[in-house]
Amino acid sequence: MGLTDYAAKREFEKTPEPKPGVTQEGGRLLFVIHKHAARALHYDLRLELDGVLKSWAVPRGPSLEPSSKRLAVMVEDHPFEYKDFEGVIPEGNYGAGSVIIWDRGFYHHPTAIDEKENEKLLREGLEKGDLKFVLEGEKLRGEFALVKMGKDGKSWLLLKKKDRNAAKGDILEMNHSVVSHKTLEEMLETGGQKSFKQKKVHQIRVHEALESENLKDAPDKPMPHAIKPMLATAVAEPFDHSDWIFEVKWDGYRAIAEIRDKAVSLYSRSLISFDKKFAPLVESLRKFGFDAVLDGEIVVVDDQGRSDFQKLQHYQGSEKSHLLYYVFDLLYFQGHDLTDLPLLRRKELLKKVLPSDPKIRFSDHVAKEGVLFYQVSREKGLEGIIAKHAQSVYETGRRSRHWLKVKTRHSQEAVIAGFTEPGGGRKYFGALVLGMFEGNDLIFIGHVGGGFSENDLKEIRERLAPLIQNESPFHVRPETNARVTWVKPELVCEVSFSGWTDENVMRQPVFLRIREDKVSREVVLEKPLGSGEGGP
Ligand code: MN
Repeated sequence: MGLTDYAAKREFEKTPEPKPGVTQEGGRLLFVIHKHAARALHYDLRLELDGVLKSWAVPRGPSLEPSSKRLAVMVEDHPFEYKDFEGVIPEGNYGAGSVIIWDRGFYHHPTAIDEKENEKLLREGLEKGDLKFVLEGEKLRGEFALVKMGKDGKSWLLLKKKDRNAAKGDILEMNHSVVSHKTLEEMLETGGQKSFKQKKVHQIRVHEALESENLKDAPDKPMPHAIKPMLATAVAEPFDHSDWIFEVKWDGYRAIAEIRDKAVSLYSRSLISFDKKFAPLVESLRKFGFDAVLDGEIVVVDDQGRSDFQKLQHYQGSEKSHLLYYVFDLLYFQGHDLTDLPLLRRKELLKKVLPSDPKIRFSDHVAKEGVLFYQVSREKGLEGIIAKHAQSVYETGRRSRHWLKVKTRHSQEAVIAGFTEPGGGRKYFGALVLGMFEGNDLIFIGHVGGGFSENDLKEIRERLAPLIQNESPFHVRPETNARVTWVKPELVCEVSFSGWTDENVMRQPVFLRIREDKVSREVVLEKPLGSGEGGP
């Protein structure tokens, strides 16, 4: 396949690639491997012979492992000058995308004694469909072979021969140019339109993630469905530990996202769909272009970046609040189940493949320094921090000791079991009577009369109206000073408080909010494990 094919595919006033020109004669033969993000990402192996570059496209790239055979599709000869080409082929042109010189050096036939015999043996090998050669590059060294398969003349296999340069591991992780030292992504920064650039960067990242060692230990499985997230155990104090990482505890709705064939399903801990309520997030997730299951938290943030739970609850989609999905875990990716990979490797992959989108954010972490991170979080008015063991696997549906939450204030979810009549100037109700479940039994934990806005009072009273019943819902009916109107124990709220009495009743509780996303049966004691039991 000669240079005519090469020239026919290109318009040289529109692409920076070289025009075929005059060739230097003599000297040692060289090879170059281009890494090329075209429609699909691939590597192009080019061997100088008879004044041109004989070329093969290698979709999965070369390997130093003798056991791995890589498909190499023979393509048209490229002009000798192409050996120096790196850059961006603009959108609309043949092979549009970025190109780097991934490796370069000299090559020769393994048994040749001089340059003349060398070229003869190489030509014969090419003719026979069994081309043996030794590379002297910066990344690739040692003996390789290209072996023709079948009759079409195009499909070859690229093999590494067993020699002292053979090696395990992934040579493709070295992803910089040997000339400019840029990656494909960095090369894209030098040219091209913005949307084209973003699409390409995303494509490169997904491809590199699929290639990565991290994924090789993740078994192939069908995508799981209706996943209950892993939960953190509450502890009283932050700690420092080199095996742990620390994330912000986002104050929003925990949400799992399933993305398959561009169909997205976003849902709560109790598997209630968020697809309609948070449609803009679903819209963003739909553009991902790969299958994945994400774990994260939906928040609405103010201009300072603090999450505002009230605004989230009243999110209608119309107002200009900053609705975000902070993603902190990747459970599934392109046919691979990642739940048994260590957390840090899952987060590494997640960071790599998460597209840049104003609504979808990577929830980053700090290593080791939990105490300082906690102090800073408290000063910033954040709800708390989550400590995660860096090597922990994902325990679906379980409250684990490998994830720990440290809140900057005490709070407890509580089931509303009744209300008292309002007094003084107040309307709607006086206090809420609160409980939580122990098995099937509802246990009294206190009552809360403060922290309500006028709006809260009205809304809660309206929501309790259809739940009113004659019987106390408690296992043991608590003694109360005021008359209580009992309700079916369904509505869940969250309160902050200063501590517990010996009778397990909350001291000085203050109402924070209604929890729409919680089911009353899930409301159990969240007393943090004391120090001593606390840390890792
Ligand atoms: Mn190419």
